[in-house]
Amino acid sequence: MKVCINPGHDVNLDSGAVNPRTGRRECDVALEAGQLLQTYLNQAGCQTVLVQDDDLGYVCHVSDDFDADIFVSLHCNAFNTQARGTETLYKSFNGQRLANDIQSQIIRSINTVDRGVKKRDDLWVLNGTNAVAVLVEMAFIDNDDDLEMLNNDLGTIIRAIARGITDYIGGM
Ligand SMILES: [Zn+2]
Repeated sequence: MKVCINPGHDVNLDSGAVNPRTGRRECDVALEAGQLLQTYLNQAGCQTVLVQDDDLGYVCHVSDDFDADIFVSLHCNAFNTQARGTETLYKSFNGQRLANDIQSQIIRSINTVDRGVKKRDDLWVLNGTNAVAVLVEMAFIDNDDDLEMLNNDLGTIIRAIARGITDYIGGM
């Protein structure tokens, strides 16, 4: 099974959202998350490729070139510093199944606000990849409670995402 892991944004060109109090950047959290996910999925016997790039066309190209079965993009949300929680976005029918598996593992594993799974037709990486694709909004980086969870419990979140992926693979 081949999984393309896409940490959102770009550490040199696009920080993504930033916590206004601490300056913690989404691109850095996402990269750390992606590297952890790669380790866990490799241990589970998956083949993986990790790509973080400002150019989303290139990201999709890497996934398709790798012939990925599954594509997982990792992001942090931001809104008004008060909103909290975790949501998983999908577009396709199988994407919804993968999103459900990932979201339910996260909710089971950590005390986060369950914002559910959501269909989105406007996201480049969900539209542009051949793989079954999802985008996980792990938490709100602009909310200090959620940021604390990202800083202290990222491994727990990522292990849950890895289990969600292996649940999906087991049900294929
Ligand atoms: Zn993002």
